[in-house]
Amino acid sequence: MAIHIGKYGFDFTHKEYRGDISKINYNKNFPYSLPFKKGQSYMVSQGYDGAFSHKNINALDFDMPEGTPVVAIRGGVVVKVEDSFDKQGETEDFAQYSNYIIVSHPDGTFARYAHFKNKSAKVKAGDFVTTSTVLALSGNTGMTTGPHLHLEVYIPKPSETIYVKTKFKLGRGFVSLFLKEKQKAIRGY
Ligand SMILES: [Zn+2]
Repeated sequence: MAIHIGKYGFDFTHKEYRGDISKINYNKNFPYSLPFKKGQSYMVSQGYDGAFSHKNINALDFDMPEGTPVVAIRGGVVVKVEDSFDKQGETEDFAQYSNYIIVSHPDGTFARYAHFKNKSAKVKAGDFVTTSTVLALSGNTGMTTGPHLHLEVYIPKPSETIYVKTKFKLGRGFVSLFLKEKQKAIRGY
């Protein structure tokens, strides 16, 4: 499905965005909220491009016990809810058993939250959510080495998914920064 422009016949289908996310139009400085309730703090156990399962992926893992309420990081619309699985393992073949929720944001980005506890979803597809909406309870489903929340923000493209780093409001919420592996993120707002 090529898009041909004028006499040059450029094919934008696959190469336009590859490797150069600076050309994608989304709000790079949006201050995201941490994915848990006010007064709580959790450690980033695996950061962006992390060695265990985030190679070349801008995703974050938050260490949290099973049953922790997971809150939306940005307002949007729920597009997909999967909470029917109840299986966990450390190898690739367990990845398909991860419960997850996808929320679409107004700037074209999507957030995917994963490893939720079986049957714990509090929202359904089509629901509007805010940064105080509990989506589901964290768990330990799919490919994991222990209970945690996996979180990624991405832009779907026909050729590939582009994962983006996002800034999170920390402390009392006046500063927004990129999170790093082993950092303890405190939500005081
Ligand atoms: Zn992860």
